[in-house]
Amino acid sequence: MTFEMDLKSAIRTIPDYPKAGIQFRDITTLLGNARCFRRAVDELVQPFSGQKIDQIAGMEARGFILGGAVAHQLSAGFIPIRKKGKLPHVTVSVAYSLEYGLDEMEMHQDAVKPGEKVLLVDDLIATGGTATGAIQLLRKLGADVVAACFVIDLPELGGAQKIRDLGVPVRALVEFGGH
Ligand code: AMP
Repeated sequence: MTFEMDLKSAIRTIPDYPKAGIQFRDITTLLGNARCFRRAVDELVQPFSGQKIDQIAGMEARGFILGGAVAHQLSAGFIPIRKKGKLPHVTVSVAYSLEYGLDEMEMHQDAVKPGEKVLLVDDLIATGGTATGAIQLLRKLGADVVAACFVIDLPELGGAQKIRDLGVPVRALVEFGGH
């Protein structure tokens, strides 16, 4: 089995969740498989090992699980990007659109220093609304967003291209067609 097939088959698809027409790509089955979890983290880290990365920024909530492991491997810090109202200190915030809704995300104002090299990590990129919001927040604070890394890309939704158009390279381990 190829690497992509192996990881792909570890991801569970739930049709019509959270609403009709969405094929929810559930990574809990991948995370629960020790070999696949390790392999996904190793593959996310691989292009950046040996580079100086200061911080990993992870999006709530699945980006925390992957981002924490990536940060550990790269000896980098970790910055949580959270839904509105969850962070206790002074925050910066941005409104963003999801494949299935609208929301606001926040980051602590002192979470990153100007010029720091930051990798963005999340489980999946769909329309790119979440990642665009995160890049806006990080750039607002002067971060150098080196790349955005995902386990899954849904290329037909165009999010990865949107992020590349912002000047941020995108890495994804597997692709699924459709929504
Ligand atoms: P987007 O902002 O449209 O790129 O959506 C990405 C965010 O929404 C990620 O944090 C994903 O966890 C979640 N998401 C969007 N679409 C899906 C999907 N089909 N399956 C699982 N998660 C999704």
